[in-house]
Amino acid sequence: MQIAILGAGAMGSFFGGRLAEANHAVTLLDVDEAHLASVRRDGLRLSTDSGERVVRNLAAMKPDEAMEPADLVIVFTKTMHTSAALTAARGVLGPQTALLSLQNGLGNTERLAQFAAPERVMIGVTTWPADKSEPGRVSSHGNGTIRLMTANATRTPTLEQTVDTLNGAGLTCTADPDVWAAIWEKVAFNAALNCLCAVTQCTVGDLINTPDGEALALKIVAEVVAVAHARGIAADEAHVAANVRYALAHHGTHRPSMLQDVLAGRRTEIEAINGAVVEAAHSARIAVPYTEGLLHLVRLIDARPH
Ligand code: NAD
Repeated sequence: MQIAILGAGAMGSFFGGRLAEANHAVTLLDVDEAHLASVRRDGLRLSTDSGERVVRNLAAMKPDEAMEPADLVIVFTKTMHTSAALTAARGVLGPQTALLSLQNGLGNTERLAQFAAPERVMIGVTTWPADKSEPGRVSSHGNGTIRLMTANATRTPTLEQTVDTLNGAGLTCTADPDVWAAIWEKVAFNAALNCLCAVTQCTVGDLINTPDGEALALKIVAEVVAVAHARGIAADEAHVAANVRYALAHHGTHRPSMLQDVLAGRRTEIEAINGAVVEAAHSARIAVPYTEGLLHLVRLIDARPH
């Protein structure tokens, strides 16, 4: 397949590297000149549990330089950059091009639907992790999965082909018509741990230095799950709470991406996480005081002069 990765940071480069290794024609599209230059010059240095290697069969350019329509565009910018990135990448969007978002947060379907018909928009959730340590170098350790569906919940040949393609690259993908529950469960997890760490500058493990940390995280999970339920989405509060407790106990030194963004002076994905939950809560007339309080605090951090 001709695959364009729009937003080739940690996740995009990892996915792009794995798909190129499976012999697809992959183009990385990003605005980070240093990363693009490094990939063009030296290849993509990819480190996984299978070892470190250099992936050379990748093109790398800015979104507005790509002119050939792709079969599939995988969007992996941060959520607040999706629309600008797709607007700049119009050259890869042909009449048959499918779009896939595995980004965190809510609102990804609506953003992609501005650029393709609903049957060609796919959304989902992934548990693969990735880090980018320097230009041209990404790593992903451990295992992950992908669950996805089309935006209009139909099972299309494009969906089947995308699932096969991702499985062919060893990325363990299933088509799941119930993916909304998984998306909201991940939003609940991120609304709790990402925000608490971003505001307090605690690592995940630091949150259990007082009993308040875990209690606060679980209250946020309960609020987000209540909003999901009001929308008819069967998110499982006990499942998310168990994941939160596991992370608190086992991911002690981890700095969630929102904290990393705050420390680096970058804007966070708060609007797609707490922002979207609070908006949905207001429509459903549900009070989400903890989620809303954290939204306002992270907005203040985001608004500091950078
Ligand atoms: P990242 O910051 O490493 O990568 C984002 C990339 O998008 C950057 O390279 C940036 O230069 C690029 N970008 C910004 N504006 C652009 C534009 N206009 N056009 C093209 N490229 C542009 O982020 P990431 O960690 O790879 O995360 C990407 C998404 O995946 C986020 O929604 C995140 O929440 C989600 N996610 C991340 C992980 C993880 O482990 N990193 C896991 C699951 C989901």
